[in-house]
Amino acid sequence: MSFPYEAPVSQSLFDRASVVTPGGVNSPVRAFRAVGGTPRFMVSGTGPYLTDSDGREYVDLVCSWGPMILGHSHPQVIAAVQEAVARGTSFGTPGEGEVELAEEIVARIAPVEQVRLVSSGTEATMSAIRLARGFTGRAKVVKFAGCYHGHVDALLAAAGSGVATFGLPDTPGVTGAQAGDTLVLPYNDLEAVRAAFAAHEGEIACVITEASPGNMGVVPPLPGFNQGLKDLCAANGALYISDEVMTGFRVSKAGWYGLDGVVPDLMTFGKVMGGGFPAAAFGGRADVMAHLAPAGPVYQAGTLSGNPIATAAGVAQLRLLDDAAYAKVDAASAELRSLVGEALTKAGVAHRLQVAGNMFSVFFTERDVTNYDEAKTQESFRFTAFFHSMLAQGVYLPPSAFESWFVSTAHDTQAIEKIAAALPAAAQAAAEARA
Ligand code: PLP
Repeated sequence: MSFPYEAPVSQSLFDRASVVTPGGVNSPVRAFRAVGGTPRFMVSGTGPYLTDSDGREYVDLVCSWGPMILGHSHPQVIAAVQEAVARGTSFGTPGEGEVELAEEIVARIAPVEQVRLVSSGTEATMSAIRLARGFTGRAKVVKFAGCYHGHVDALLAAAGSGVATFGLPDTPGVTGAQAGDTLVLPYNDLEAVRAAFAAHEGEIACVITEASPGNMGVVPPLPGFNQGLKDLCAANGALYISDEVMTGFRVSKAGWYGLDGVVPDLMTFGKVMGGGFPAAAFGGRADVMAHLAPAGPVYQAGTLSGNPIATAAGVAQLRLLDDAAYAKVDAASAELRSLVGEALTKAGVAHRLQVAGNMFSVFFTERDVTNYDEAKTQESFRFTAFFHSMLAQGVYLPPSAFESWFVSTAHDTQAIEKIAAALPAAAQAAAEARA
């Protein structure tokens, strides 16, 4: 397809980047390969807007893939970072910021009695799985097709996010030994989980699931699914790990746990809790966390874990996220969903808007999507046309049909009006798209 707006400065940066970096990017989905065209190199962000290196402004519906729930450059977060950075950038010792961030997390999420800070969601899920294996003395891990838990070797089997975007079945470089203890099951299928526990009695260390998946597009758990997982784990001596890297502190004060109340043994967090800096965490039952070094024998460590700038940003952001802030994000999300649905319906485009709290995505299909196989049947080519029309009109969507859209407290009437004005033409482009 042709791209309605060219971006010469981004193009020249992308050309330079492609010489020195594989594919020109440092995280695959950023490269626009699923939708084609030139990835936009951003230079600044304010509130709900991003500005690219060609000087064009976009309403941002990616929010750095979730973290920027207060919008870009929130003055109080920036002030906290400036104060912290003036005191030094890393000490390699314990610091008060780490205690404050851990206390914020523990205070918000009842099942988290203790928490360990790390630097990325990948590290959080990798460490949680190691801990589950160390605690139970078992090897096998159950995950669900279409769920993404970062680029952990053992969890890249049938993963979501970029792996789904590019239709990769697995990835070279992950050996049979690394993935051999991973059982991949269809999402939302409790019978499959029951059968796995029966077939591997006494061998399954944990079941890890996205609390509500957003990495195959938004596919929420069917009623009773998460509770069923918890019950099956409890009955079989396995740990239930809820990955809230995406949903945590985003869909409510206490993340997805705050909405469904199912109590996990371990949980993982990232994104929002770092305020735009690399901070992530895993935590849960104190008796399980007690197995972690130096309290216990399961090793885990990090030079920059609990970095003072990252913890300052995270604490500042979390403290601003009160009930009123979540009400604002929820309202912006609801308004946007209704505008998107209206425009697509008017243009006669078959679609499903799937919702998990204030996260949502559009599937270009006639059926509800409950698992990864169903997600893959959508007409992604319609998303491509929709995406480029929105981009040309100054709205930055995730460059893949398999990702959640994110809004923030900064998405005000003006920003939503700009999106509303762009929708009819984008819906028309989706209607006219051909595979
Ligand atoms: N878990 C989930 C649910 C995620 O959505 C992601 C990233 O998108 C991760 C884990 C990995 O986090 P990170 O990219 O910080 O390593």
